[in-house]
Amino acid sequence: MSMTIRYYSTNRNLNLGGGGKPFRETVSFREALLMGQAPDEGLFMPERIPELVPADVAALKGMPYPEAAWLVARKFLAGEVELDRLRLVVEDAYNFSVPLERVVGENYVLRLDQGPTASFKDFAARMMARLMSMLRSPDKRLNVLVATSGDTGSAVGEAFKGVPGIDVTILYPRDEVSSRQRKQLDTIGQNVQAVSVSGKFDDCQNMVKQAFADPSLAELNLTSANSINFGRILPQTIYYVYAYAQLARVEAGEEIVFSVPSGNFGNALGCEYARRMGLPVRMLVMPTNENDEFPRFLATGIYEKVSPSRACLSNAMNVGHPSNLARFFDLYGGTVDRNGMVHRDPDRDEIRRRIHSVSVTDGETKRTIKRVYETYGVLLEPHGAVGWRGLEDYLDKSRYGGLCVSLETAHPAKFPAEITELLGIEPELPPSMRELDARIGEPVLLPADNDLFRTYLWERLQRS
Ligand SMILES: *Cc1c(COP(=O)(O)O)cnc(C)c1O
Repeated sequence: MSMTIRYYSTNRNLNLGGGGKPFRETVSFREALLMGQAPDEGLFMPERIPELVPADVAALKGMPYPEAAWLVARKFLAGEVELDRLRLVVEDAYNFSVPLERVVGENYVLRLDQGPTASFKDFAARMMARLMSMLRSPDKRLNVLVATSGDTGSAVGEAFKGVPGIDVTILYPRDEVSSRQRKQLDTIGQNVQAVSVSGKFDDCQNMVKQAFADPSLAELNLTSANSINFGRILPQTIYYVYAYAQLARVEAGEEIVFSVPSGNFGNALGCEYARRMGLPVRMLVMPTNENDEFPRFLATGIYEKVSPSRACLSNAMNVGHPSNLARFFDLYGGTVDRNGMVHRDPDRDEIRRRIHSVSVTDGETKRTIKRVYETYGVLLEPHGAVGWRGLEDYLDKSRYGGLCVSLETAHPAKFPAEITELLGIEPELPPSMRELDARIGEPVLLPADNDLFRTYLWERLQRS
């Protein structure tokens, strides 16, 4: 019988102003999953990182993706969930392909864009949704509220579609999403309802926050599915293990380099955990777009968030203060709070030995898309191009010549205008996007008004 893993808050050592108290206890995975964040607004971290046995990793070679998911998930969750049910969760979550494409020599692209919303966020959202369904109180439906400015909402909505015992309400600002995004959100269907708000993204976020704080809604069992939930980090360790097992000489302990285009750092954090589970990751490359707070910190030792964040082509990475930076700092002995204030410096030399970060401009992003396509016939979109450019930068500086994998986090068809402009071709739509036109569904229309939203939630959710 293994000991289960407990989770602590990244803010446990802070002196919080305003009467807040640091959270010094630990919680179970189930509690971390259902709470989302710690009561002191810190992020939950596992106290112990389970170890991967090389023979188990070697056995994944040639096996389908759910096998890797099963290995990693049971290492973290053994003792807390029924393993038979966990097995079903990973098989149900990962019913799409995960291609590894050779670019040149031992350099590969891992395509994480074959899920229902054609972004890597599907990997985390689909597993988290099923874990929540499995671990919720059986006698009460769970109600997930999400405010979205675009892609996260549809990934979360699709992930929860048809998942038993859970209803999802997605709020989006009517005039701030593209017509394709609107269609994606409005037509998910089943237990997922879109609410189109005549207001801004901030209004949507406020309506959700108000609802969580509203005692008269306590009975509705509201919860969030936001990106800082540890339930979204755990699934993101899996594809590193999977890719390594497929490509490396595992028994010989061959090293690998991963390049992860980074915004809120959740994806790269998955790689850091995979490394700490025992994967021989020689270097974690974390390129950012022009939101360069992290590479500047590594170069200067001074952390300054970028505020407001810069609008770049790789728009899902337009983040001026990454929410998961607190977890990276914690893993390297430091503390930073949600406002970007550093309370204790991490070991920067150690970070620099293990993490290579560089800022990639929009100009370089475009040139990389063009060059990689013309030289190797490999199609990248802006996020994946930032990843590839970061890898090139590392290879130039290190002279490393071994196994490398760069992550492609979205499907090129999500960026038709850029691809056509740069390459003169139209990227083919993946099946999930081809079906979109035929889908039907209507949003609920609401003004940005907390009282009306409360009434709406009561009427919709009480019935279910
Ligand atoms: C969210 C997202 C990213 C950034 O991932 P983080 O985990 O926030 O660093 C990169 N690419 C795409 C396409 C995304 O949707």
